[in-house]
Amino acid sequence: MDYRTGSSSASASASSHPSGSPAPNSATDLSRGTSGPARASNLLNACRVIPPNDNENKPLWRYVELMEKTGKGQGGNVRFRCRLCGNIMHGSYSRVKAHLLKVGSNGVAPCPKVTIDVLSQLHDEMARAVVVAERNLPKDIPLPAEGASRGKRRAVSAIESSFNSDTRSNLDALIARMFYTAGIPFNVARNPYFRKAFMFACNNALGGYSPPSYNKLRTTLLVQEKTHVERLLNPLKSTWPVKGVSIVSDGWSDAQRRPLLNFLAVTEDGPMFLRAINTEGEIKRKEYIAEKMIAVIEDVGPKNVVQVITDNAANCRAAGLIVEQRYSHIFWTPCVVHTLNLALKNICAAKSSSGDAYEEFQWITEVAADASFIKNFIMNHSMRLSMFNEFRKTIKFKHSKSKRRF
Ligand SMILES: [Zn+2]
Repeated sequence: MDYRTGSSSASASASSHPSGSPAPNSATDLSRGTSGPARASNLLNACRVIPPNDNENKPLWRYVELMEKTGKGQGGNVRFRCRLCGNIMHGSYSRVKAHLLKVGSNGVAPCPKVTIDVLSQLHDEMARAVVVAERNLPKDIPLPAEGASRGKRRAVSAIESSFNSDTRSNLDALIARMFYTAGIPFNVARNPYFRKAFMFACNNALGGYSPPSYNKLRTTLLVQEKTHVERLLNPLKSTWPVKGVSIVSDGWSDAQRRPLLNFLAVTEDGPMFLRAINTEGEIKRKEYIAEKMIAVIEDVGPKNVVQVITDNAANCRAAGLIVEQRYSHIFWTPCVVHTLNLALKNICAAKSSSGDAYEEFQWITEVAADASFIKNFIMNHSMRLSMFNEFRKTIKFKHSKSKRRF
C-alpha cells in the first residue's frame, strides 16, 4: 500500500523512457496510422511503470510518478507527475483517478492526453482491479453456531428464546472470529474497556451503528482521548510549581525492540509519563541526551524542575553536567538503584583494587555466575525450557531481565 515513498523508488523500477518526462513521442509516432484503440494501448504501455510495491487495487498509480510525500503518517497526500501529460499535481489516489479518468469537480484538471480510447482502456483496467479486490476479500465462512443449526432444526425452548440464546452464541462466534483472524492476544478479552464497549452496545438501542473506522481511530478519536487525558492530568501539573518536579529518564526497548528514551515527571503526588523518544540509529552521546533533557525541562518549565535523575553511565552523567551548567538551580542525581548495582558489581569483580573485599565477597560472584549459567542452560534449549515450564509452578523460580539500554 505504501509505495508513495518518493520519486527515487518509483523511478527505480524498469522504465524504457527517462522517468518523469511526459509521454514519449516515439510511442505516438510509432503508432501513426494504426487504429485508435491500438494507439491508446501503445501510449499506456509506454507510460506504465509498475512501482516496487504495486497495489493491484489501485492500478492508476502506475501512470503517475511520485515526487514527494507531503502528508504525515502512513496515508496522506503526495506530489505526483502524470506520466501521460507531464503535469504536476498534489493529492491522494482520488486525485490521480480524477485526473486520468477525467472526473470533474475534484479539484484537479482532467488529463489532456487521455482520449476516448485511452479512457476506455483505463476503465477496463479499473474493472479488473475491482475483480482482484473482490477476490482478495475474506470469504464469507458461516459461523460455527450457524453451521450447526443448519443441519437439523430442533425445537427452541421458551427459556432459550426468551434469552435469545441463538443470537448470543452468534455474537460470541463473531467476536471469537475477530480475535482469531486479526491475531488479537486473548488477554484483550480481559480488557475492561473491551467488555464495556460490548455491554454498552447491547444495552443501548443503536440500530445501524457501525464501529469507528481505521481513520477515525487514528485521528479524531486519538486526539480526543489525548486531550482528555491531558485535562485529567492538569490537577497533578498544577502542583508542580509548589512541590517541584524531578525529571527521571531511562533507556529501554519496547516490544518491537526499538530503543526508547523515556522521561517521567515525578512529584510526591506520583509519577507522570512525559514522553518516549525513539532513538533508533542515534548514538547516545552526552550532547544528544542533554538536548532531549533540555527540551523536556523547557516543556515542564525550568523553574518547576528541581533535579534530573538518570543512571550513572558516563554519557548520562556528562549530559547531567551540561544541564547543570545551563540551569544553575537544577541538580543531576544518579539513580540510587543503579549506583548500588554498580557498587556491588565492582566489589565482587576480581579486578577490584582491594583484595580484602574480593576475598570477602567473591561468593556472590560465584553464585551469580552459577545462576546465570543455569538460566542460559535452560533458556537456550527448547526441550529443557519446556520441562522447566512444566515444573515452574512447583519450583517458584523467577528470572529478572534487565531492560537497561544505556
Ligand atoms: Zn495527465
